[in-house]
Amino acid sequence: MSEETDSKDVSSKSEQDWRSELDAEQFHVLREKGTERAFTGKYWDLKDDGIYRCAACGEELFSSETKYDSGSGWPSFYQPASEKSVDELPDHSHGMIRTEVVCKNCGSHLGHVFPDGPPETGLRYCINSASLDFKKDGED
Ligand code: FE
Repeated sequence: MSEETDSKDVSSKSEQDWRSELDAEQFHVLREKGTERAFTGKYWDLKDDGIYRCAACGEELFSSETKYDSGSGWPSFYQPASEKSVDELPDHSHGMIRTEVVCKNCGSHLGHVFPDGPPETGLRYCINSASLDFKKDGED
């Protein structure tokens, strides 16, 4: 079997393992489905070229090429990096009907996807900065 990404095998990880590996905000967002406050995350206004990986497992999730300014205060993308990047799940919490976006590799919470995106796909992947780990093109 070929391994196309350098994401970690997370099948044996417990919540206690996650808690010790992630910082408090990352753990809250990724493992407890929290949401960072708008305009407070480290990536909502970032315009550099590069790849956004899962902050929990390293899976490649989004490319800067599909990032756009939605005005929401969260990093916004019109599509995931590949079909292997994310899963989309129905979310009826907080009295709303939304679609949750999780990392396909480790199941961690990333954000939500809404049908009000730009023309390319019509989708807005509204993702917490805390769930992402940005690597600028040309850096390791
Ligand atoms: Fe992940």
